[in-house]
Amino acid sequence: MRFDVITLFPEMFQPFLEHGVTRRAFTSTPSGEAVSSESDIPAMEVELWNPRDFAPGNYRRVDDRPFGGGPGMVMQAPPLASCVKHIREQRTQSVPLVLFSPIGQRLDDAMVREWSQSVGAILLCGRYEGVDQRFIDSHVDAQVSLGDFVLSGGEIAALAVLDAVARRLPGVLNDSRSHLQDSFHPDQGGLLDCPHFTRPEVWEGKRVPEVLLSGHHEKIEAWRREQRLRLTARLRPDLIDAARRNGQLTPADERQLASLGLEGMASINDAL
Ligand code: SAH
Repeated sequence: MRFDVITLFPEMFQPFLEHGVTRRAFTSTPSGEAVSSESDIPAMEVELWNPRDFAPGNYRRVDDRPFGGGPGMVMQAPPLASCVKHIREQRTQSVPLVLFSPIGQRLDDAMVREWSQSVGAILLCGRYEGVDQRFIDSHVDAQVSLGDFVLSGGEIAALAVLDAVARRLPGVLNDSRSHLQDSFHPDQGGLLDCPHFTRPEVWEGKRVPEVLLSGHHEKIEAWRREQRLRLTARLRPDLIDAARRNGQLTPADERQLASLGLEGMASINDAL
């Protein structure tokens, strides 16, 4: 798996590639130095490319004023096209070119799952007002957004994708079962995660739920499932509907949801 990231700020990526559990997945940088490679973990190669290196002239200009006037600058097509051509010449497989943009499809768990099973992609981080539309029309296969807000660049979105994809690769998390328990995972019916507790047993007068200290595995699992259902019904009723549509709620789950009673129903209505 290889991700080629096109960014005017490659140095923003380095600290991220070198820290946290996900660092184990990342294998190399453009300088060729190995950031990490633990043999039992599938490699996620990350190559960083600066369009400035593909811009002509002494100034290596990559942006210019918008035709039609108005504020800000626009990323020019020619350096981006040369950069993409260079990357595609290096890569044997054909991979999609993804542009981060507020107009794109919202990043979600399904998209991350698809990427984690792919051979990778070329990720283009926009800056300024965005990218010349003619480049988008000719080269961009998909646009992806982090949400309905505007960042000053696509780098944080690219980092979000790299992080979310890396933590799904087997061996990256300390416990391989960890991500199966995460919010949105199909193994948990796409529900939200349950609350977590650790030592001390009593903190500021608050006790850890008794069942978690019981050592009774089945009871603990039942409690966690109930918490997931409760939390999801209250905060994300749309995910309960989706789980029901996908046949991921058991009769016991349905009984549980029904027994949430007024408290649960009121919250569902509030959320709607
Ligand atoms: N004029 C654009 C915003 C440009 S912000 C608009 O209003 O739609 C500069 C760059 O930041 C964009 O080109 C994009 O790559 C990135 N960016 C901004 N908001 C983003 C978001 N919500 N998701 C992903 N990328 C975003």
